[in-house]
Amino acid sequence: MKVAICNSVGIDSDGYAMIHSPSRWTNSTKDLNIFTYYPWELAYCSSILKRDTDHEVKFYDGCLDKLDHHAFIEKVSEFSPDYLVMDCATRTINADSRFAKELKKRFGTKFIICGPHATTFPKEVSEYADYVVLREYELTVLEILQGKNPTDILGLYPNALRMPLDVNKLPLPEDDDVSRLSYGIPGEPSSEYLEIQAYASRGCPLSCSFCVCGNISYAHPNWRSRDPQNVVYELQTLREKYPQLEGIFFDEEVHNGSKKYMLELTKAIRQNGLDDLKYDVMCGQWPMDEEVLDAMKGAGYYMIRLGIETAGEKAAQGMDLMKKFNVPRLKQLMEHGTNIGLKFYGTFTFGGEGSTDDCDKKTLALMNDLLDRQLLWRFQLSISTPQPGTPFYNRMKQKGYLRNVDWKHFDGGNHCVVDNPQYPAEMVMKNFREAEKLYEKGFDNRYTSTAKDNFQSIEINSTREILLFRTARMKQVNDILGSLHGQYKDSRISVLGQNTVTKELKSNDYVDDVFLYGDGHFNNDLFPQPLLKDLSDRKYSLGVIPYHNMSGNGYADVKAIAKRIGIEKMVAVNIEGTVFDLENPGDQGRSHLR
Ligand code: SF4
Repeated sequence: MKVAICNSVGIDSDGYAMIHSPSRWTNSTKDLNIFTYYPWELAYCSSILKRDTDHEVKFYDGCLDKLDHHAFIEKVSEFSPDYLVMDCATRTINADSRFAKELKKRFGTKFIICGPHATTFPKEVSEYADYVVLREYELTVLEILQGKNPTDILGLYPNALRMPLDVNKLPLPEDDDVSRLSYGIPGEPSSEYLEIQAYASRGCPLSCSFCVCGNISYAHPNWRSRDPQNVVYELQTLREKYPQLEGIFFDEEVHNGSKKYMLELTKAIRQNGLDDLKYDVMCGQWPMDEEVLDAMKGAGYYMIRLGIETAGEKAAQGMDLMKKFNVPRLKQLMEHGTNIGLKFYGTFTFGGEGSTDDCDKKTLALMNDLLDRQLLWRFQLSISTPQPGTPFYNRMKQKGYLRNVDWKHFDGGNHCVVDNPQYPAEMVMKNFREAEKLYEKGFDNRYTSTAKDNFQSIEINSTREILLFRTARMKQVNDILGSLHGQYKDSRISVLGQNTVTKELKSNDYVDDVFLYGDGHFNNDLFPQPLLKDLSDRKYSLGVIPYHNMSGNGYADVKAIAKRIGIEKMVAVNIEGTVFDLENPGDQGRSHLR
């Protein structure tokens, strides 16, 4: 039998790229260069099926490859699968079910549907799916494909549920049909290194009212950790396979579910010489203490991600945050961690269950305070969105607060789908938009901290001619001009840019010459030949490309133009002020991005 394990269709019929994360919530964007989360549960499912069955199993990822319905259908059709396994979220169900129906039409492919949407609406999806798997699904899928009598398979709708699996019996997840490293290029936007997503634990001991993991993915709240030696084995395997690997993003629900475990895991990492990797981890505040933070720092951890959610008591109660809500302790931990060199990433939600305008204003004040005190390195915002199957959803539905239900709006980033008369959607959006303005403050903090002396390690030759490409907003360009001037005082700085910013460029005291190619983006094919010659004649020592993003995706044309100009040394500066040496392939693993 041929079994296709497929992550979702990557681009929906409206042209949105999926940021598919079924165990949390799936978001979407018009940015087709967006990163992809490693579909970890499907990936474990794939490796279990490869290990424990004789079927021909193939793993496909429509999100990673940015495939729309037609392209994904054509790709998977080459395999003509007998079975299709998918993990669908509410946001992806329309595209995924259309995909499954088309494969069934072509090859009679049986559809095994898993994930939160199937768990929440089993009856509805069973109208087109052949098997509906509830909650944690790997072992249920295995038994289906081992041919076990369906009535005896736990977790297969409408049978009884299955207990959570033993995480220490899992093989390493899929890394053959897709490369785990490819999910790090570009990686999750806040990951600062070339990182692979990995999972030292599963589940969570809490059950926040909005959470898919805490309410849908597992039969009951639970947290299971993998043996530290098993995690070490995975890290060693990955490092051997990918020598360019710089770090690991432990993207489970709560990496630090127990203090004892954290002390053991960090010790094992150190003892096995893996503390030179950089670790970026999803944590909970409540099991954390100073000793654990010290141990993490000592093992190479650099960023601690915390679900802070809110600073409002009523919202904390409404969302059932329980011991996760303790603002004074949160601040103490962030102070200690920052003092020892850790960075903190916080997630905040607006319009959460039980929240009021006052609650969300308190959250805004907390964010401002943490940013002002340089305790919050990065943050992520969401409009609290009741994912079907969660207590939040059930209560909002019962109260009649869900307006114009359209699953496409359940992405937490663009729409407020709850309209509570006491705290209407418009007010939630207003507070959310205020919070979005703080991104600028966060960027400024990071830029100031990173960009200080950021060109120090870059030597330039005697011509002292620098060419800066105007490829980002003027604020960033002006910041970089300041840094260049500070570092190379006796150099001559030219800027190559667009007509629309001539005045601003010419008014900058650090700019000696301005070259204009017209308007619009840099386009290698249309770049004026005479200008290219003038620039080549200047014999630039250093070329600088500002990235308006973290990793430099989408700069192929400007890099090609720079190459044709013949600049001696090329660097890029990302949105946070980090300088990338574009000639050194070892430079954070990203200089090869074109
Ligand atoms: S702490 Fe995080 S993972 Fe746990 S239930 Fe709450 S939101 Fe979910």
